[in-house]
Amino acid sequence: MTDWLFLAKSKESDLFELIEKLVLIETPTSDKPANDHISSIAADLLRSLGGDVKVHPQEDFGDHITADWPASAGGSDQHALIVGHLDTVWPLGTLERMGYYEEYGRMYGPGVLDMKAGIATTIIGLQTLKEQGLWPDRPIKILFNTDEEVGSPSSRPLVEESAKGAEYALIMEPGQAGAGALKTQRKGLGEFKIYIAGKASHAGAFPERGASAIHQLALTVIELQGLNDWPNGITINSGIVSGGSARNTIPAYAEITVDVRVQTLDQSELLEAKLRALKPSIEGTTLKIEGNFHRPPMVRTPELAELAGKLIRWSNEFGFELTEESTGGGSDANLTAAMGVPSADGLGSKGLNPHAEGENIQISEQVNRLALFMKAINSL
Ligand SMILES: [Zn+2]
Repeated sequence: MTDWLFLAKSKESDLFELIEKLVLIETPTSDKPANDHISSIAADLLRSLGGDVKVHPQEDFGDHITADWPASAGGSDQHALIVGHLDTVWPLGTLERMGYYEEYGRMYGPGVLDMKAGIATTIIGLQTLKEQGLWPDRPIKILFNTDEEVGSPSSRPLVEESAKGAEYALIMEPGQAGAGALKTQRKGLGEFKIYIAGKASHAGAFPERGASAIHQLALTVIELQGLNDWPNGITINSGIVSGGSARNTIPAYAEITVDVRVQTLDQSELLEAKLRALKPSIEGTTLKIEGNFHRPPMVRTPELAELAGKLIRWSNEFGFELTEESTGGGSDANLTAAMGVPSADGLGSKGLNPHAEGENIQISEQVNRLALFMKAINSL
């Protein structure tokens, strides 16, 4: 029987060497050359493992890459899908300020947790399975994209296409900050803009000739607030408002940027209908509503619960505690799950402060994540 943890430990220095290499290439989503650079490095590594690598050129973002390995004779034709993103939220220059260093059993650096460690774990894990003759019979597909941190606008079709027909998906994002838990339930996420048009007029001389877009905005914000249903997982936030042109002018224009999160698909449909049906009550004003749910909710289906249960059991067998949690944040797991594929998210690493000062991973746990990843790909 394979001693997965022992095998993972024997690869610890290779793993951390690759994590370091990836962290030292800063990749803010908005920087296409930086993301092209890292995706070409990842493509070379996957090619060296025999993957059929395809580069998916992008105009506004770094190029996304996919890599495929066919089934071996007699293997299932349903593939294992592995998803990760190469971009980070950190602007160029953060590395110089924050540094990449070890302290008290943790590696600190921008993007190390979210999610360079998960990318490195995927590559070293597959490399080890190949070396050891532990490659599975089923096909494997990898997708590394470069726009996840802004909601995967350009890679969404590719994520969905890659998920088609998959047996399961491993999303190599970090586990929930702190315990490093698997995320088996994710809220759906929508982003809407409400444009309010009114009619300008001198506020002192002819107020009756105007129609205040800001007055309407205030009423609409209150109406939106009333759609909140926190106990049932619905959150609505009017996060940004703006409008008006001068102190003494009845405002002809205002807008609201709204963040909406839901637990179920039904809720997202119902809410979207409610938002689109919003009507002005101030005479002379009109509303225009734009936006959509760009991340469908990820529901904890029985298949996903079973997948998570296996990962948790294996982790326990390796001597590491692993739990599962739900989260309000979105990831590409929302997209693969919406395609009907059980999607275990949060396998990549365990650490603290994603997207924040002091972002880090726990070094000892990374070996467990590597062992788990290899065991999963070999056995599921
Ligand atoms: Zn991430």
